[in-house]
This record gives sequence, C-alpha cells and structure tokens, in this order.
Amino acid sequence: MIVKSETLAKSGNGGSSASDEPRENLLGQSAPELEKLLYALGEKPYRGRQVAEWIYGRGVANFAAMTNLPAPLRAKLEEAFTIGSLEERARRETPDRRTRKVAYALPDGGVIESVFMSTSSRFTFCLSSQHGCAFACRFCATGRMGRGRHLSASEIVEQAFRLRSELPRGAAAAGKAEYNIVMMGMGEPLENYDAVIQALALMSDPAGMAVPPKRITISTVGLAPQIMRLADQGHRYRLAVSLHAADDAQRSKLMPVNRRFPLEQLMRAVRHHVEKTGRRVTFEYILLEELNDSLADASRLVKLVAQLPCKINLIPYNPIGPGKFKRPSPERIERFAGYLRPRVPAVTVRYSQGVEIGAACGQLAGEEESAPG
Ligand code: SAH
Repeated sequence: MIVKSETLAKSGNGGSSASDEPRENLLGQSAPELEKLLYALGEKPYRGRQVAEWIYGRGVANFAAMTNLPAPLRAKLEEAFTIGSLEERARRETPDRRTRKVAYALPDGGVIESVFMSTSSRFTFCLSSQHGCAFACRFCATGRMGRGRHLSASEIVEQAFRLRSELPRGAAAAGKAEYNIVMMGMGEPLENYDAVIQALALMSDPAGMAVPPKRITISTVGLAPQIMRLADQGHRYRLAVSLHAADDAQRSKLMPVNRRFPLEQLMRAVRHHVEKTGRRVTFEYILLEELNDSLADASRLVKLVAQLPCKINLIPYNPIGPGKFKRPSPERIERFAGYLRPRVPAVTVRYSQGVEIGAACGQLAGEEESAPG
C-alpha cells in the first residue's frame, strides 16, 4: 500500500507514468480492504465503501462512472488501480443465448472458461477454480489438460462479476436478478481451498455481491479432508460430490482420486458435512453406457447413500471427443432414474445445457487457447 502511494506521488508530480508498474487490482478486495486502501491514499475510509458499492453492488468496472466520487479522486484511482485482470478472449453462445461460454485470458497467458446459463426461472454462473486440473478423471476434458495453476480469489470473483453483466438489463439494473453460483467449471475447488473460500466469502458478503450461501454450490471430486474442513469451519455453501460410481473398484478406474480417498472415507466426510451444516448433499453421477448404468449399479448407489438427506443428480455423459465412453439411450437413463426415484429423497436428470457449444459439464478445456487467431 505504501509502495502504491509513492507510485502515485511520482506520477502525480509528472514523473514516470503508472504504466511501468502494474496497477493493483481492486476486484476481489473486500469493503474493509478497500477502506484501508483509500485511507492510505489520504482519503476518508467511507470512500472505500463507496468504491465497494460501485464495484460489487452495481457491477461498475470503470472509475469514471463512479459519480459520487470527486473527479480528482476518480483520476487518482484510475492511475493507481484496475478493476479486474481477465481479458475476454472468445465466446460461444447457443442460438437462443441461454447458454454462453466465455473464455478469459489470464494475465500470465492461460485461458479459463466460465459459463452463463439461464432457464425461464433462474440464472446460474458456472465458475472455474483452476487453470487445468490434476485429478485426471477419465471422462472429463479438463482432466486431460493436466495440472495447471490455482486461480486467485480475485480471478474467481471476476468471473462472477463479468457474468453478472450478462444478465438482462432490467433485472440487473434493479438489483433484482437472483443467480446461483456453481463451482463446477475447470479445476478442483477444494484443492484451491483458501482462494475459493476467500472468493465465496466476498461473493456472499452483503457488502459484496450479496449472493446468499444457499445459492452457492461447491462441487468436488471428493477430497474428504477438505470436506471435513468446510464443515468444521462452519461454511454454509451447498456441497456437491462427484460420485459417478458406488463401488471402489469402479470408481478408482474412472476417478484415480478414489485411491487416495476411497468411498468409505469420502462418505464419512459427507455425513459429517450434512450433520454440521444441516444441508442436504448433492451427488453427481455421470451415466456411462454399460459402465455404471445398470440396475445393479443403481442398487449399489441406493445402499451407499441410504439414510442421507441427499439429492442425486444424474448427468448423462457429454461427449468429449473420441473415447470409450458413451451416453446411454434415453430408455436406459429413465430406467436408472426410475429405480432411484422411490428409493432416495430426490433425483434429477441434468440434461446439460450448451453441449453443442462445448459448454456442458466436463467439456471445458480451454480450447480457445490453441484456436488460431
Ligand atoms: N472438480 C469438481 C468440479 C468440476 S464439476 C468436481 O469434480 O466435482 C463438473 C461436473 O461435471 C462434475 O460432476 C464432473 O464429474 C462432471 N463431468 C465431467 N466430465 C463430464 C462429462 N464428459 N459428461 C458429463 N459430466 C461430466
């Protein structure tokens, strides 16, 4: 902060421009942090709250539009800070525009993807937590990229900030649009625990983006110790667990992480989470033809989740290029779902939106990175 003030003084004196030093990014900083920053600039702390309200409350990304700040302060902020660091690189939209996949370039070169989804009743933003993924689930395109890097809290928050500006104008302007956030994009959110929690804290902060925790879902490959930690730290976000198989041998083949945290340990952590949070858990279960979609599989699944307040979200496999996996026929999907329905508290079949634009579950892989031009 002190360094920043010196930079300002220099450029204010007509010295070198701020451009030879990267400007600090305000997006991702909480209202109290912004108060401190503004205070360090010689301003009253409430100016920090005003800036927070512009950024998080209204989604404004440029200082010039912050009309309740004095013009000289706006100019000073412009010189010292940025609001965001991602650059939109490409986008693909379904013809009805209900699903939009947006690729953002990171400052250090990689490309991540976020997905805006809408139905007649709700909006959902699907955010990435890492660039790449180390867990190598066999059916997932991001898993094929291999380990990348963690995204910072700011980079995670910015995806939601950007997608929010895609909301229909009327609803957004009136601050009325309600939207859900799902950490189901690229990467494993619980491997990037601290940044994800920091980002979600800001998104759910009433002085931030004010998304109620019950509208936020963390989806995990099944990192049992981090699930315990979420529960013990009292976080109220919804938990979704990518299960995909109800016995260890099968699950280990599909998801190597199962060798580290086998089902028994995973289910113990999930039960702990349900007890501590009082929230029901969602299990995601990809349906792969002839692999995990038989009635014997369904029966094993019912036993595994017995007594748990849960929802099972069946995801018919979305193709990610040549390979041995196939999406089951509608009849097989319905047979599996039909077996579960009377036996577990809730079952949904998620026909992913955006399959045709590569925006569906499992299809995110930074394809724009290698696209020509
Ligand atoms: N790493 C987290 C977040 C990714 S969420 C997790 O594993 O939960 C993306 C969801 O889509 C997960 O449930 C994932 O298993 C599922 N998925 C991955 N590849 C898929 C595919 N090809 N078709 C359908 N769902 C897929």
